[in-house]
Amino acid sequence: MTHAPELPYAVSLPPASSLTNHTGAWRTQRPAYVDLVPPCSAACPAGEDVRGWLRHTEDRDDEAAWRLLTDTNPLPAVMGRICYRPCQTACNRAELDESVGINAVERYLGDAAIAAGWALAPPGPATGRHVVVVGSGPAGLAAAHHLRRLGHDVTVRESQPLPGGMLRYGIPRYRLPREVLDAEIDRLVATGVRLECGHPVDDLGALRAEPGVDAVVLAVGEQLGRRTYLPAGDGSAVLDAVHVLHDMEDTGAPRLGRKVVVYGGGNTAVDAARTARRLGATETLILYRRTRDRMPAAESEVEEAEEEGIRLRWLSTISAVEPGTITVERMELDATGFPQPTGELEQLDADCVVLALGQESDLTLLESVPSVRVTHGLVEADPAGATGEPGVYDRVLFEALRGLRRAIAEERGVPPYLVFSDASLRDMARLKPRTRETLLEVKGVGAWKCETFGERFLALIRQQTS
Ligand SMILES: Cc1cc2nc3c(=O)[nH]c(=O)nc-3n(C[C@H](O)[C@H](O)[C@H](O)COP(=O)(O)OP(=O)(O)OC[C@H]3O[C@@H](n4cnc5c(N)ncnc54)[C@H](O)[C@@H]3O)c2cc1C
Ligand code: SF4
Repeated sequence: MTHAPELPYAVSLPPASSLTNHTGAWRTQRPAYVDLVPPCSAACPAGEDVRGWLRHTEDRDDEAAWRLLTDTNPLPAVMGRICYRPCQTACNRAELDESVGINAVERYLGDAAIAAGWALAPPGPATGRHVVVVGSGPAGLAAAHHLRRLGHDVTVRESQPLPGGMLRYGIPRYRLPREVLDAEIDRLVATGVRLECGHPVDDLGALRAEPGVDAVVLAVGEQLGRRTYLPAGDGSAVLDAVHVLHDMEDTGAPRLGRKVVVYGGGNTAVDAARTARRLGATETLILYRRTRDRMPAAESEVEEAEEEGIRLRWLSTISAVEPGTITVERMELDATGFPQPTGELEQLDADCVVLALGQESDLTLLESVPSVRVTHGLVEADPAGATGEPGVYDRVLFEALRGLRRAIAEERGVPPYLVFSDASLRDMARLKPRTRETLLEVKGVGAWKCETFGERFLALIRQQTS
C-alpha cells in the first residue's frame, strides 16, 4: 500500500479552497493615500507650514525658512516670544521624548530677519481694489499682510495712537520688547500697507459707504475688561487689569500700592500680577475661585509668576472691598465640580484689587448694520459663519489667523466684509476639545492607539474581531 507523501496542510488543500477558507493572501482593504495636515500645522493658529520651514532651517537656509514662514505669519519674532505653542503640544515627537522646539526656532528666524533686514515679498499685481482693516492687532496685521500680497490696496484703521493691539497695550514689555514689535510692523508697512492710527471706526455702515472702500475686515479684538459686582466702600481701589496694562504703555505706570490682589485666573491676571511686582508691590496675590487645574492661564506663565514670589490662592472669591482690606470667602467644589460659597470669610490686607475677569468685544460699530445681530457679545452666525447680512461672516473664521488667511485666499478677490474678533476664538474654546489619541483595548487585537477621528476605523476593527 502506498501512502500519500506528508504535505503541509496548506499545500494539501485543493485549488480554490482558500475561497472557502479565507486563507492565503487575502486583501480586505485597499490602502488609500490620505494627505493630512501635520499635527503642528493643524494646531498652529496661523496654519504655518512648520515642517517646511524646519526643513530649510536644517539645510542652513534661514532666509528660505523665514520666507516660507512669512507666507502665512508676518510676525514670527513676535510669535516666537509670546505664542503658547499649541504646535508643540500637538507634536508627535512628544510621545517619544519631547516635542520639537518649534517656537524657539521661529523666534530665532524672526530675530535673524530683523537683524539682516530681510523684506517681505512684494505685493502681487495691483487689483485696484481697496480694503479697510479695522484694528491693528495680530489679526488685523495678518489680514493686511495677506490682502496686500494679493495686490489690494490696504488701509488699517486703528483707534489707539500706536499699532499692535494687545501686543502693545496688553502683553507687557518684559515678554515682548516693543522694538521687536515695531520692526515687524514697519516691515509690513514697507510693503505698502497704510496705517492710520488714532482713527477709530464708530460706524461700519458709514465706512462701507465711503467712496473707494471695496471691502472691510473687522479685527477689533476684545478691549473691554469684564466687571463683576463687588461691594466696595468709599476710597477703595478697584482697578481693571486691561486698563492697568494699557496705562503701562500709554500714560505711564499706574499706582497700585504695596499689597496688590489680582482677581482672576487667566493670562491677563498673571500679567497684571507680574506687572504689579515690577511696579514695586511687595505682596502680590492672585485669587481664583476655582482650582489650579481649571486656571486658564498658561502653565509656564503661572510657574514664572510663582518664581517671582507671586502667591496664588485657589477656591476663593472676594465678597467685599474696603480701603486697605478685602473680605475673601472660601469656596468648595460641589458634586459637579463647580465652586460653591461656604460662608467662611477672612480679611486680607490689600491696597488695591485688580480685576482680571476676561475681556469682551466692543461691537457698537455694528449697530448701523442691524441685520448683523450680536448676542452676549458674540456675532450671531449660522454653522457656516454667515450672519444676517449678506457677505458678512463670523465664526467661519474661528480658526483665527489661519481661517482669516484661508478665507482671503479662497476668495482670491476681496470678501465683501468679514467680521473677526477674539469673541470668535472664545467661542471656539467652548467647543469640546479633541483628545488627540485614545488608547483602547480591542478584544482579540490587543491595545491599539487610535486617533479619535478614526472612529470609523475602530468600528471596522471591532467588526473584524467580534
Ligand atoms: C494681558 C494679555 C496678555 C496676553 N498674552 C498672550 C500671550 O502671551 N500669547 C498669546 O498668544 N496671546 C496672548 N494674549 C491674547 C492676544 O493678545 C489676543 O488673542 C490677540 O491680541 C487678539 O488679536 P486681535 O487682533 O484679534 O485683537 P487685539 O490685539 O485686541 O487688536 C484689536 C485692535 O483693534 C482696535 N480697535 C478696536 N475697535 C476699534 C474701532 N472701532 N476702530 C479702530 N480700531 C479699533 C484696538 O484698539 C486694537 O488695537 C494676551 C491678551 C492679553 C489681554
Ligand atoms: S509657535 Fe505658535 S505661531 Fe509658531 S508655529 Fe507654533 S503655534 Fe504656530
